[in-house]
Amino acid sequence: MEDQVNGFVITIDGAAGTGKSSVAHELANRLGTECLDTGAMYRAAAVLSIDFNVNPNDGAALAAAIREKEIRFDWNQSPPVILLGGVDISQRVRDLDVSSVVSIVAQQPEVRQVLVEQQRAICMLHPLLVTEGRDQGSVVFPDAIVRFYLEAEVEERTRRRVKQLRDSGTSVNDEDIQRDIQSRDKLDSTRLDGPLICPNGAIKINTSALSKTEVVDLMESEVTSRLQE
Ligand code: C5P
Repeated sequence: MEDQVNGFVITIDGAAGTGKSSVAHELANRLGTECLDTGAMYRAAAVLSIDFNVNPNDGAALAAAIREKEIRFDWNQSPPVILLGGVDISQRVRDLDVSSVVSIVAQQPEVRQVLVEQQRAICMLHPLLVTEGRDQGSVVFPDAIVRFYLEAEVEERTRRRVKQLRDSGTSVNDEDIQRDIQSRDKLDSTRLDGPLICPNGAIKINTSALSKTEVVDLMESEVTSRLQE
Protein backbone atom coordinates (compact mmCIF):
# COMPACT_ATOMS: atom_id res chain seq x y z
CA MET A 1 0.00 0.00 0.00
CA GLU A 2 2.87 2.36 0.88
CA ASP A 3 4.36 1.86 -2.60
CA GLN A 4 0.98 2.59 -4.14
CA VAL A 5 0.71 5.88 -2.23
CA ASN A 6 4.18 6.90 -3.47
CA GLY A 7 3.36 5.90 -7.00
CA PHE A 8 1.14 3.77 -9.19
CA VAL A 9 0.58 3.41 -12.89
CA ILE A 10 -2.73 2.72 -14.61
CA THR A 11 -2.62 1.77 -18.28
CA ILE A 12 -5.35 2.21 -20.89
CA ASP A 13 -4.84 0.59 -24.29
CA GLY A 14 -7.13 0.30 -27.28
CA ALA A 15 -7.63 1.12 -30.94
CA ALA A 16 -8.23 4.59 -32.43
CA GLY A 17 -11.52 6.19 -31.39
CA THR A 18 -12.29 3.91 -28.44
CA GLY A 19 -12.27 7.02 -26.22
CA LYS A 20 -8.90 6.43 -24.52
CA SER A 21 -7.70 10.04 -24.44
CA SER A 22 -10.82 11.59 -22.99
CA VAL A 23 -11.39 8.91 -20.34
CA ALA A 24 -7.69 8.86 -19.42
CA HIS A 25 -7.73 12.60 -18.81
CA GLU A 26 -10.92 12.44 -16.72
CA LEU A 27 -9.71 9.42 -14.72
CA ALA A 28 -6.39 11.17 -14.01
CA ASN A 29 -8.30 14.26 -12.79
CA ARG A 30 -10.42 12.19 -10.45
CA LEU A 31 -7.45 10.25 -9.06
CA GLY A 32 -5.15 13.28 -8.85
CA THR A 33 -2.51 11.77 -11.15
CA GLU A 34 -0.74 12.97 -14.28
CA CYS A 35 -1.93 11.74 -17.68
CA LEU A 36 0.34 10.58 -20.51
CA ASP A 37 -0.89 10.46 -24.14
CA THR A 38 1.69 8.19 -25.83
CA GLY A 39 -0.14 8.44 -29.18
CA ALA A 40 0.87 12.13 -29.20
CA MET A 41 4.54 11.05 -28.98
CA TYR A 42 4.21 8.76 -32.03
CA ARG A 43 2.31 11.54 -33.81
CA ALA A 44 5.15 13.96 -32.99
CA ALA A 45 7.57 11.47 -34.60
CA ALA A 46 5.29 11.45 -37.67
CA VAL A 47 5.35 15.28 -37.77
CA LEU A 48 9.12 15.09 -37.62
CA SER A 49 9.11 12.70 -40.57
CA ILE A 50 6.80 14.86 -42.72
CA ASP A 51 7.93 18.38 -41.82
CA PHE A 52 11.66 17.62 -41.64
CA ASN A 53 11.82 15.16 -44.52
CA VAL A 54 12.88 11.99 -42.71
CA ASN A 55 11.83 8.77 -44.46
CA PRO A 56 9.04 7.18 -42.32
CA ASN A 57 10.48 3.71 -43.10
CA ASP A 58 13.99 4.62 -41.90
CA GLY A 59 13.76 3.76 -38.21
CA ALA A 60 17.39 4.55 -37.38
CA ALA A 61 17.22 8.02 -38.98
CA LEU A 62 13.92 8.75 -37.24
CA ALA A 63 15.21 7.63 -33.84
CA ALA A 64 18.28 9.86 -34.26
CA ALA A 65 16.07 12.80 -35.28
CA ILE A 66 13.78 12.23 -32.25
CA ARG A 67 16.77 12.33 -29.90
CA GLU A 68 18.15 15.44 -31.58
CA LYS A 69 14.91 17.46 -31.86
CA GLU A 70 13.36 16.24 -28.60
CA ILE A 71 9.74 15.30 -28.13
CA ARG A 72 8.58 16.62 -24.76
CA PHE A 73 5.43 17.64 -22.91
CA ASP A 74 4.63 20.91 -21.18
CA TRP A 75 3.39 19.46 -17.87
CA ASN A 76 2.13 22.87 -16.71
CA GLN A 77 -0.89 22.50 -18.99
CA SER A 78 -3.80 20.14 -18.46
CA PRO A 79 -3.77 17.90 -20.42
CA PRO A 80 -0.01 18.30 -21.05
CA VAL A 81 0.82 19.86 -24.42
CA ILE A 82 3.12 18.03 -26.86
CA LEU A 83 6.25 19.91 -28.00
CA LEU A 84 8.65 19.14 -30.84
CA GLY A 85 11.95 21.03 -30.55
CA GLY A 86 10.22 23.27 -27.99
CA VAL A 87 7.35 24.17 -30.39
CA ASP A 88 3.71 23.41 -29.50
CA ILE A 89 2.46 20.93 -32.14
CA SER A 90 -0.77 19.93 -30.39
CA GLN A 91 -2.92 21.06 -33.36
CA ARG A 92 -0.53 19.79 -36.04
CA VAL A 93 -0.49 16.23 -34.62
CA ARG A 94 -4.24 15.87 -35.35
CA ASP A 95 -3.92 16.60 -39.11
CA LEU A 96 -4.91 13.78 -41.47
CA ASP A 97 -1.48 13.65 -43.18
CA VAL A 98 0.00 12.91 -39.74
CA SER A 99 -2.64 10.25 -38.99
CA SER A 100 -1.94 8.51 -42.27
CA VAL A 101 1.81 8.19 -41.69
CA VAL A 102 1.90 7.65 -37.91
CA SER A 103 1.37 3.87 -37.96
CA ILE A 104 4.24 3.44 -40.42
CA VAL A 105 6.52 5.46 -38.14
CA ALA A 106 5.23 3.45 -35.13
CA GLN A 107 6.17 0.16 -36.84
CA GLN A 108 9.88 0.98 -36.69
CA PRO A 109 11.53 -0.88 -33.75
CA GLU A 110 14.16 1.90 -33.33
CA VAL A 111 11.39 4.48 -32.92
CA ARG A 112 9.51 2.31 -30.42
CA GLN A 113 12.69 1.71 -28.45
CA VAL A 114 13.44 5.40 -27.99
CA LEU A 115 9.83 6.35 -27.17
CA VAL A 116 9.34 3.44 -24.73
CA GLU A 117 12.53 4.55 -22.97
CA GLN A 118 11.19 8.11 -22.76
CA GLN A 119 7.79 6.90 -21.46
CA ARG A 120 9.50 5.00 -18.62
CA ALA A 121 11.64 8.08 -17.86
CA ILE A 122 8.47 10.22 -17.71
CA CYS A 123 7.04 7.73 -15.20
CA MET A 124 10.10 8.16 -12.96
CA LEU A 125 9.38 11.91 -12.82
CA HIS A 126 5.59 11.50 -12.59
CA PRO A 127 5.10 8.33 -10.51
CA LEU A 128 1.34 8.79 -10.18
CA LEU A 129 0.36 8.18 -13.77
CA VAL A 130 -2.54 7.24 -16.03
CA THR A 131 -1.00 6.38 -19.40
CA GLU A 132 -2.77 5.50 -22.64
CA GLY A 133 -1.72 4.01 -25.96
CA ARG A 134 -1.41 0.62 -27.66
CA ASP A 135 1.36 -1.14 -25.70
CA GLN A 136 1.25 0.47 -22.27
CA GLY A 137 -0.05 -2.54 -20.34
CA SER A 138 1.61 -5.19 -22.53
CA VAL A 139 5.14 -3.81 -23.03
CA VAL A 140 5.88 -0.53 -21.27
CA PHE A 141 4.29 -0.99 -17.83
CA PRO A 142 3.35 -4.69 -17.47
CA ASP A 143 3.38 -4.28 -13.66
CA ALA A 144 0.81 -1.46 -13.62
CA ILE A 145 -1.67 -1.91 -10.77
CA VAL A 146 -4.67 -1.83 -13.11
CA ARG A 147 -4.59 -2.32 -16.87
CA PHE A 148 -7.59 -1.49 -19.04
CA TYR A 149 -8.32 -2.41 -22.64
CA LEU A 150 -11.00 -0.39 -24.46
CA GLU A 151 -12.85 -1.51 -27.55
CA ALA A 152 -15.78 -0.20 -29.65
CA GLU A 153 -17.41 -0.85 -33.03
CA VAL A 154 -15.66 0.82 -35.96
CA GLU A 155 -18.76 2.86 -36.95
CA GLU A 156 -18.96 4.35 -33.45
CA ARG A 157 -15.21 5.03 -33.39
CA THR A 158 -15.51 6.83 -36.75
CA ARG A 159 -18.46 8.89 -35.51
CA ARG A 160 -16.50 10.01 -32.43
CA ARG A 161 -13.34 10.88 -34.36
CA VAL A 162 -15.33 12.86 -36.95
CA LYS A 163 -17.09 14.81 -34.19
CA GLN A 164 -13.81 15.49 -32.38
CA LEU A 165 -12.19 16.82 -35.57
CA ARG A 166 -15.22 18.90 -36.59
CA ASP A 167 -15.49 20.35 -33.07
CA SER A 168 -11.88 21.48 -33.39
CA GLY A 169 -12.71 23.25 -36.66
CA THR A 170 -11.29 20.68 -39.13
CA SER A 171 -13.48 19.83 -42.11
CA VAL A 172 -13.43 16.07 -42.69
CA ASN A 173 -15.21 13.41 -44.67
CA ASP A 174 -16.63 10.37 -42.77
CA GLU A 175 -15.31 7.85 -45.31
CA ASP A 176 -11.74 9.21 -45.14
CA ILE A 177 -11.80 8.95 -41.36
CA GLN A 178 -13.17 5.39 -41.36
CA ARG A 179 -10.54 4.37 -43.92
CA ASP A 180 -7.79 5.96 -41.78
CA ILE A 181 -9.02 4.15 -38.64
CA GLN A 182 -9.24 0.77 -40.40
CA SER A 183 -5.84 1.08 -41.99
CA ARG A 184 -4.25 2.07 -38.63
CA ASP A 185 -6.09 -0.83 -36.89
CA LYS A 186 -4.52 -3.23 -39.36
CA LEU A 187 -0.97 -1.84 -39.11
CA ASP A 188 -1.15 -1.42 -35.32
CA SER A 189 -2.40 -4.94 -34.62
CA THR A 190 -0.15 -6.79 -37.08
CA ARG A 191 3.25 -5.16 -36.40
CA LEU A 192 5.89 -7.35 -34.75
CA ASP A 193 7.07 -4.87 -32.12
CA GLY A 194 4.52 -3.71 -29.50
CA PRO A 195 1.37 -4.66 -31.45
CA LEU A 196 -2.06 -3.59 -30.22
CA ILE A 197 -3.24 -6.49 -28.04
CA CYS A 198 -5.37 -6.88 -24.95
CA PRO A 199 -2.71 -7.26 -22.20
CA ASN A 200 -2.89 -10.39 -20.03
CA GLY A 201 -5.11 -9.76 -17.06
CA ALA A 202 -6.42 -6.44 -18.42
CA ILE A 203 -10.00 -5.32 -17.73
CA LYS A 204 -11.83 -5.13 -21.06
CA ILE A 205 -14.49 -2.43 -21.52
CA ASN A 206 -16.63 -2.06 -24.64
CA THR A 207 -17.32 1.67 -24.80
CA SER A 208 -19.72 1.64 -27.81
CA ALA A 209 -22.89 2.19 -25.79
CA LEU A 210 -21.36 3.94 -22.77
CA SER A 211 -20.90 7.64 -22.06
CA LYS A 212 -17.50 8.98 -21.03
CA THR A 213 -18.77 9.36 -17.43
CA GLU A 214 -20.00 5.76 -17.34
CA VAL A 215 -16.63 4.45 -18.55
CA VAL A 216 -14.70 6.57 -16.05
CA ASP A 217 -17.07 5.52 -13.21
CA LEU A 218 -16.32 1.86 -14.01
CA MET A 219 -12.59 2.48 -14.13
CA GLU A 220 -12.53 4.54 -10.96
CA SER A 221 -14.31 1.84 -8.98
CA GLU A 222 -11.88 -0.84 -10.26
CA VAL A 223 -8.88 1.31 -9.31
CA THR A 224 -10.28 2.21 -5.90
CA SER A 225 -10.95 -1.41 -5.02
CA ARG A 226 -7.47 -2.45 -6.24
CA LEU A 227 -5.83 0.29 -4.15
CA GLN A 228 -7.71 -0.92 -1.06
CA GLU A 229 -6.52 -4.53 -1.41
O1 C5P B 1 -3.72 7.22 -29.85
P1 C5P B 1 -3.57 7.78 -31.24
O2 C5P B 1 -4.64 7.36 -32.17
O3 C5P B 1 -3.31 9.25 -31.23
O4 C5P B 1 -2.20 7.11 -31.74
C1 C5P B 1 -1.70 7.37 -33.04
C2 C5P B 1 -0.87 6.19 -33.53
O5 C5P B 1 0.32 6.07 -32.74
C3 C5P B 1 -1.53 4.82 -33.43
O6 C5P B 1 -2.35 4.55 -34.55
C4 C5P B 1 -0.32 3.90 -33.38
O7 C5P B 1 0.18 3.63 -34.67
C5 C5P B 1 0.72 4.72 -32.64
N1 C5P B 1 0.84 4.36 -31.23
C6 C5P B 1 1.60 3.26 -30.90
N2 C5P B 1 1.83 2.95 -29.59
C7 C5P B 1 1.31 3.70 -28.61
C8 C5P B 1 0.48 4.80 -28.92
C9 C5P B 1 0.25 5.10 -30.25
O8 C5P B 1 2.08 2.57 -31.79
N3 C5P B 1 1.58 3.40 -27.34
